[in-house]
Amino acid sequence: MFRIGQGYDVHRLVEDRDLWICGIKLPHTHGLLGHSDADVAIHALCDAILGALALRDIGFHFPDTDPKYKGADSKLLLAEVCRMIRGKGWEIGNVDITIMAEAPKFKPHIDEMRECLANVMNIECDRVSVKATTTEGLGFTGRREGIAANAIALLYES
Ligand code: MG
Repeated sequence: MFRIGQGYDVHRLVEDRDLWICGIKLPHTHGLLGHSDADVAIHALCDAILGALALRDIGFHFPDTDPKYKGADSKLLLAEVCRMIRGKGWEIGNVDITIMAEAPKFKPHIDEMRECLANVMNIECDRVSVKATTTEGLGFTGRREGIAANAIALLYES
């Protein structure tokens, strides 16, 4: 038995914030604004995993009105999402993430991001794909106003 889910998230780029994506801090002039650390890729990934089992979304489970999640490390949210689906007898087959951003350059960081997410999810690194693309200067990502990410996750009954 297999289930598939997808997730999408956007956060605004602002000055004076750290840029956290896929669980690692990237060197950049701007960071993402949000109640938590605003890790847009992890948020999309959590929604993909939850979506596969129709378990609503991260806003439902970790509301941004809850002071507990202010500045929260999104890796902890991802770990909790993995605990939830494993508690229901499901395991992660593979995940695939696409980050849409004009900058910074992601290429030097992709493997570190994959390893970080694989560790948090407790799965092999070759089940974790992270890709990045620009949008050729078009739209809000192209204007460097924000960063978007989408993710897909395949789960199997364990
Ligand atoms: Mg978010």
